[in-house]
Amino acid sequence: MTGQYLLFEDDALPVLRRPPRTALWNLWHGCTRHSEGCLNCYVFRRDALHGIDSTAIRKTRDFLLPVQRNKAGAHVFPPGSFFYTCFTSDFLHPHCDAWRQEAWAVMRERADCHFLFLTKRIERFTDCLPPDWGDGYDNVTVGATCESQRQADFRLPFFKRCPLRHKIIIHEPLLTAMDISPWLDDGIEEVIAGGESGPAARPCRHEWLVSLRGQCERANVSFAFKQTGAVFVKDGRVYHIERRLQHSQAKKAGLDYRRKPGK
Ligand code: SF4
Repeated sequence: MTGQYLLFEDDALPVLRRPPRTALWNLWHGCTRHSEGCLNCYVFRRDALHGIDSTAIRKTRDFLLPVQRNKAGAHVFPPGSFFYTCFTSDFLHPHCDAWRQEAWAVMRERADCHFLFLTKRIERFTDCLPPDWGDGYDNVTVGATCESQRQADFRLPFFKRCPLRHKIIIHEPLLTAMDISPWLDDGIEEVIAGGESGPAARPCRHEWLVSLRGQCERANVSFAFKQTGAVFVKDGRVYHIERRLQHSQAKKAGLDYRRKPGK
C-alpha cells in the first residue's frame, strides 16, 4: 500500500472455512478476451512475462490431476478435496468443447471431492453439459462472472435458468456500480466481489461494494469482499494498494455478510 496508512483499521479477520485439501486444477491453459473484464487478464500478463502466447489454448499435463493415484492405488487427493478448476482459462471456452466431456467424467469419478469453476461465458453452459447432468452434479459449483452492470444484465438471466446445484456470482474485477437484486434468491449461495490487480488496474469504489453488500443482506445471500484491487476509491480518496495487502484490506472493510439460516 502506498503511504503508511491503512484503509481499514479493524484487525478482526473472519475465520476462513477451509476444506480438508485444496488444489488448483488447471486442466487446460489459455484463453481469448471475451468482455471488458478481460482487458487486463492476469493469464495474459503472466504468460507475457515468459513469452507465451495465451491465445494458443492447450490441454495441460494436469488434465487428469484429480484422479491420479499413488503407488498403493489410492487417489493422491483425498476425499473432501476442493479443486479450483480452470483458473488459467475459461471452462466454457468453445476451443475446449472436444475436451470437456472427459473433464466432466473426472468430476463424476471424484464425486467425493468438490469442483469450482468461474466463467464469463455462462450463456454457453447448457450447450456444454454431459448427458447425465440432470439438475446438476452435487459436487460442482459454478460462478458466473459479471464485471459490469451491462454483463450482469446479459449473463444473469442465463445463469438463473442454468440447471445447477450450486451457484455463485462473481464481480471481479468490479468495474461499475451494480444492481443485481432481481437475480438474488435462494439459488445463489454467495456473491463475491473485488477490484482489479496489476499495473493498469481500473479503480474499484467502496460505495459499489456497500451497495452490493446491502442487496445481498436484503436477499439473505452471503457476500464476500475478497480483495480491494490495486486502485481503490473511498470517500473521494484514491488508494494504491500493494498486492500483498489487497486481500487483508478487503477483509478489514467489514463488508462480508453470512447468510442467516431460516430467514
Ligand atoms: S475469460 Fe477469464 S481467462 Fe479468459 S481472457 Fe477473460 S479474464 Fe482471462
